Amino acid sequence: MNCPNCGKEMEHGFVRAESFIGGVKWMTEVSSKSLGLESIAKPNSLGFCFMEGDRCKECHKIVIQC
Ligand SMILES: [Zn+2]
Repeated sequence: MNCPNCGKEMEHGFVRAESFIGGVKWMTEVSSKSLGLESIAKPNSLGFCFMEGDRCKECHKIVIQC
């Protein structure tokens, strides 16, 4: 896909996070509390979360499908 910010071709790949508890969560403000937040990527048996998306090397925009 092309970057929604600058229009250049994006690189397809994955964002990897490491979490044994709850996976990657979405929040609208930065907080250390995670109770009740929506999980958008569950950890696998090794504790890794993978989120597929596209990254623009030009302007550093990342678009992730969750
Ligand atoms: Zn861009």
